[in-house]
Amino acid sequence: MNKHKKYLELSDVVKKYGEFTALNGLSLTIFDGEFISFLGPSGCGKTTLLRAIAGLDLQTSGLVIQNGKDVSDEPSNKRDFGIVFQSYALFPNLTVRDNVAYGLENRKMPKKVIASKVEDLLEMVGLPGSESKYPAQLSGGQQQRVALARALATSPGLLLLDEPLSALDAQVRVYLRKEIKALQNKLGVTTIMVTHDQEEALTMADRIVVMNHGVIEQVGTPEQIYQQPANAFVAGFIGTTNLLSCQLLSTSSLSTAGVNLACECRVDMVGQKALMAIRPEDIRVSNDSEASVNSLDVTVDDIEYLGAFSRVLVSHEDGLKLKTEFSMNVMRDLSIKVGKVITVTLPVEHIRLFPEERSL
Ligand code: ATP
Repeated sequence: MNKHKKYLELSDVVKKYGEFTALNGLSLTIFDGEFISFLGPSGCGKTTLLRAIAGLDLQTSGLVIQNGKDVSDEPSNKRDFGIVFQSYALFPNLTVRDNVAYGLENRKMPKKVIASKVEDLLEMVGLPGSESKYPAQLSGGQQQRVALARALATSPGLLLLDEPLSALDAQVRVYLRKEIKALQNKLGVTTIMVTHDQEEALTMADRIVVMNHGVIEQVGTPEQIYQQPANAFVAGFIGTTNLLSCQLLSTSSLSTAGVNLACECRVDMVGQKALMAIRPEDIRVSNDSEASVNSLDVTVDDIEYLGAFSRVLVSHEDGLKLKTEFSMNVMRDLSIKVGKVITVTLPVEHIRLFPEERSL
């Protein structure tokens, strides 16, 4: 594994289904040993892109270069990958042993070698000794472990995971994602996982590719995606974000629904309409004595109890009855009640500004 070596290069990949463009010219470089997640709303093209990489559905145009070789027109059986689907896709009439051994037998390996490899693989995915069971005798999580063992059996250079955890219940999902991540780390196999679950992407991926309507919106580490979203779509899609329309008055001030706030604005955006983004966890309740920049008196409209914290919906009405509504996270604070007026602060450093024309 060499994390500086390019392993997979996609160049201007387009996929059309008749008139409909599912992938609209995507380019992306994935490095050796990386764990990449394709994340985006339903229908944005994640699975289509994964299938183009696997050669299961060829792209309409564009290049797929794997390990220095142009595989753009290669059928899937000529490509080097293992794949796990959401629906396990095990052969129901074959034992666990035969399911895992499937790819090895196709390669005509000696029986003894296969038996020992299957034993090792089942040990590796935490299912030792289950060779003679049938898929129907296993839980969903166990079946997905078998599917993983089968995908890894031929030691592929690329592991493709298409929503591998979404059919499992929440508890199994959480521990399997830790195990898959640990296994990927240990093997160093370049991995791409499709998911629409942002928690899964944030916890497992080295880098996340955020997709929307067949294009890539941003590629970055989980921290970059969360803390420095490239646009309003990413800001709104990852985590929870307040997005408010505003007018940019100068490089240091904006107006939203009659309220003027301090901000840091690029010169070229001054005078324009924009979207102001601030995360609920970045808004704080101010002390009475504290007179800070961007302090605002707001009315508490609703309180959602979320266990460790509460999400408080507040609004501010100026003299013209323009209303600004946003949510904020508050750690256990029993003094906050619906209808009460509180003072909150929107710290300048947590306000992000995006051009308004982005579709959300
Ligand atoms: P999900 O999370 O719901 O699986 P996705 O991001 O994986 O979504 P894709 O399955 O890649 O989305 O589909 C992208 C778009 O292409 C969708 O609008 C879908 O309806 C369309 N599409 C996918 N396969 C075909 C097909 N065989 N024929 C026509 N349109 C298709």
